[in-house]
Amino acid sequence: MAAEKKIKSRDLQYCKLVIDTGRTMAARSLTVATWGNISARDPKTGNIYVTPSGMDYKKAKPEDVVVFNSKGIRIQGMRKPTIEKDLHIELYQARDDIHAIIHTHGLYTIAVGVAGLGLPAVTEEFAQVFGTEVPLCKYAIPGTPDLAKNVVEGFGKDRYGVLMPSHGAVTAAADMNMALKQCDVLERAAEIFILAKQLGGEIRYIPKEDVDHMFRFHHNQYVQ
Ligand SMILES: [Zn+2]
Repeated sequence: MAAEKKIKSRDLQYCKLVIDTGRTMAARSLTVATWGNISARDPKTGNIYVTPSGMDYKKAKPEDVVVFNSKGIRIQGMRKPTIEKDLHIELYQARDDIHAIIHTHGLYTIAVGVAGLGLPAVTEEFAQVFGTEVPLCKYAIPGTPDLAKNVVEGFGKDRYGVLMPSHGAVTAAADMNMALKQCDVLERAAEIFILAKQLGGEIRYIPKEDVDHMFRFHHNQYVQ
C-alpha cells in the first residue's frame, strides 16, 4: 500500500489499467506464462505506461508498471520494462488515434503467422473492428529495433492489428476496452479461418465494399 501511495492518482489509474488488462489477457489464454505485453497512453499528458519485463501477470502490481514520457524517456518505475517497449512507444509516436496497445501470443494467431499469412476479413466482427486485413509484418527477433520498425510499418496510418511471423500479434485502439475486444476478435477470426480452410470449400472473403461499410459503421457508431 505504501508503494501505491507514492504514485499520483492519475498515474495509478493507468498503472492499474495495464495490470488488470494483463490479468485478463492471461485468464483468456491470449498468451502463455509471462509472454506478451501491454501499454496505455494518457491522452492528457502523453505519458506511456508499460508492463514490466518477465512478470507473472497474477502477481504484478501497479507499482511494477514503468512510465515513459511522450519522448520515450523513463519518468517512473523501478522495474525493467518489457523488451518490446520501443515497439509500444514508437507506435504511439506514429499514431495520434491510438491510446492502448496489447501484444498477445495467442495460439491461432501465431499459427496463421507461422503459415506466412496475414488475416483477411472472413467474419463480420473482424471486418467491423479491423477492416480489410490484419497484415503479417516482416520478421525480426523479439525486442529488437527492427521488430519495432516492422510492426509500426505494418500498422501504417489506418490498421488496428498486425501479426508477427513465428511470434504473435499486436492490436491497438483508442482505449483499452476496444484493444481487449480486438484481441478476442482476432484470435477467434484466426481460429475460424483455420477451421474453415480445413473444411476444404472455397473460403468466402467479405467484399471490400461491404468491409468498408461495416468498418465505417462500427468506428462511427460505437467508438466514442
Ligand atoms: Zn512477444
